[in-house]
Amino acid sequence: MEFSYDDQNIFARILRGEIPNKTVFENDHALAFHDIEPQAPVHVLVIPKGAYVSLDHFAGAATPEEQAGFMQAVAEVCRITGVDDGFRAIANTRAHGVQDVPHFHLHIIGGRHLGRMLPK
Ligand code: 5GP
Repeated sequence: MEFSYDDQNIFARILRGEIPNKTVFENDHALAFHDIEPQAPVHVLVIPKGAYVSLDHFAGAATPEEQAGFMQAVAEVCRITGVDDGFRAIANTRAHGVQDVPHFHLHIIGGRHLGRMLPK
């Protein structure tokens, strides 16, 4: 499918420094920051610095270096936040996934028991 990136989305503005964020970790290819409306004691968003709208866009089009940098950021977020008892990683995608911000982001949510993934 075709992916079209809106560079006015809120995470693009965070990456440009137009909107402040509480940074947890940053490297050349990714930024991780606290969600503004945390759903659990740990709720961090990991985003690539490149213009990717969704997980499937990123997985299919990002360079190996971008993908490695992103996964390094995920590992650092898990280490820094100390989610040793476990966590959930969520990538809401497009309409069915109820994605609000059209810049790929992985939610890292933990710090409490989260229950089953989806209601039965
Ligand atoms: P989505 O529904 O797209 O998967 O999640 C978007 C997330 O971005 C939500 O959890 C929301 O709280 C978070 N969010 C939206 N605007 C901002 C913002 O300006 N700063 C931060 N840190 N998080 C935001």
